[in-house]
Amino acid sequence: MRRKISILGATGSIGKSTLDLLGRNPERFSVTSVTAATNVDALSEVARRTGARIAVIADENRLGALRDRLAGSNCRAAAGEGALVEAGTDDSDLVIAAIVGCAGLRPVMAAVDAGKTVALANKEALVTAGALMTDAATTSGATLLPVDSEHNAIFQCLAGNRSEDVSKIILTASGGPFRTSSAATIAAATPEQAVAHPKWSMGAKISVDSATLMNKGLELIEAHYLFGLPSDRLDVVIHPQSVVHSMVEFVDGSILAQLGSPDMRIPIAYALAWPERMATPAERLDLATIARLEFDAPDLDRFPALRLAREALETGGPAPIVLNAANEVAVASFLAGAIRFPDISRLVAEALSHATFDIPHSISDVLEIDRVTRAQTGAMMKASCS
Ligand code: NDP
Repeated sequence: MRRKISILGATGSIGKSTLDLLGRNPERFSVTSVTAATNVDALSEVARRTGARIAVIADENRLGALRDRLAGSNCRAAAGEGALVEAGTDDSDLVIAAIVGCAGLRPVMAAVDAGKTVALANKEALVTAGALMTDAATTSGATLLPVDSEHNAIFQCLAGNRSEDVSKIILTASGGPFRTSSAATIAAATPEQAVAHPKWSMGAKISVDSATLMNKGLELIEAHYLFGLPSDRLDVVIHPQSVVHSMVEFVDGSILAQLGSPDMRIPIAYALAWPERMATPAERLDLATIARLEFDAPDLDRFPALRLAREALETGGPAPIVLNAANEVAVASFLAGAIRFPDISRLVAEALSHATFDIPHSISDVLEIDRVTRAQTGAMMKASCS
C-alpha cells in the first residue's frame, strides 16, 4: 500500500523538497492534494506530474486559470480557504503543512481536528494557535511530526527517552547572513543580502526571519508547544556550521545531538517515513573536512527579535500571535523595499507594547487578533514613514 500524501504549500521550498523525495520513491508514496497561493503554472504542473486528485489555489480569482491548465486531467481545481481545508482533511495518510505564515492555520487546524498525522513545517500556525492546536491534537488523536530541522532533531533525540528525564533543549541557530556584521551594516541591509542565507536554501520570508533571528524566536515558541518545556529550559546557541541541528540535555548531564548536512530533505524524509527511515540523496557529512564545530551565545543587541520572541513566549496569551502578525507584515514590507531592516524588530516591539487583547479561546479569536494586529502594524508603518 502506498502512503497517501497531501501537500499544503506544494509550490514552495519545502513543497519542492517533499516532491523531490516523493518522485524518487513512487512505489512508496502517492499524492492526493496539492495547494498554492497564486502560482497557477507551478501548481498545475505539480498536479499533473503527481496525479493529485485535487489542486487548490488560495486566490479565488485564479480558479478559472487553474481549471484551464488542468483541463483534460483527472485533477479537480478548487480555490479559497474552504478548499484548503478540504485538502488538509482529504483521505491522505500524512499532511505536509508547508504553507508560509498564519495563512496556513485554518487548514492545519482542520487536519489536526480530523486526527491526521501532520508533518509540520508551517511554524507560524503552531506559534499562533499554541495550546489550542496541541490540545486539539490530544483530543483528536492527531500526531504532529516536526519538520523544522531543529524540532525534528529534538524529536529524534527524545525518541526512547522519558520526558521527565529532559533537563533542557538547546536550539542551534546558524546566525544568518549578518552573524558577524556590525550594527551599522545590519541597519543598511538590503532584501537581497537578507535572503542570501549562508547555509540553507529557503523561501524569502523564513530567510529574512533567519537574518533577524526572529526565526529562532518563533522556534523557541514552537519548541515550547511541541515539547512542553518552559522558556527557562529552552536555550539558543549560535552554531555557524549548521551541522548540529539541535540538542537535548538530560538530568544526568548527557547531551544528545542530531547531526546532518543542511538539507531539508533529511527532516522531511524522517516525517515521510516515520516511524521508519528512508534513504535521501542529501550530502553525507565529512566531519574531518568540516573539522570545527563552533558555538556562541546570541547577541540580543544586534538581533533584538530573539529577545522579543522570548518575551512573547513568557507573556503568553495573545502575545505570540501579535509577535507573528507584526513580523509577517514587517517582513513583507521589508521585502517590498518599503522599510529598513531594523524597522522589522522595531515594528514588532511597538505592536507588542500596544497590544491589549484578551486570551484567545478559539481559532476565530486567534485570527481576529492576527487581523487587527496586521491592520495596526500597517498603520504604525504609515505613521512612521510619513
Ligand atoms: P515558500 O515561500 O517557499 O512557500 C510557501 C508556500 O505556501 C507556497 O506553496 C505558496 O504558494 C504557499 N502560500 C503562500 N501564501 C499562502 C497563502 N496566503 N495561502 C495559501 N498558501 C500560501 O516557503 P517555505 O517553503 O520556505 O516555508 C514554508 C513553511 O515552512 C514556513 O512556515 C517556514 O517557516 C517553514 N520552514 C521552511 C524551511 C525551509 O527550508 N524552506 C525550513 C523550516 C521551516 P505560491 O507558490 O503560490 O506563493
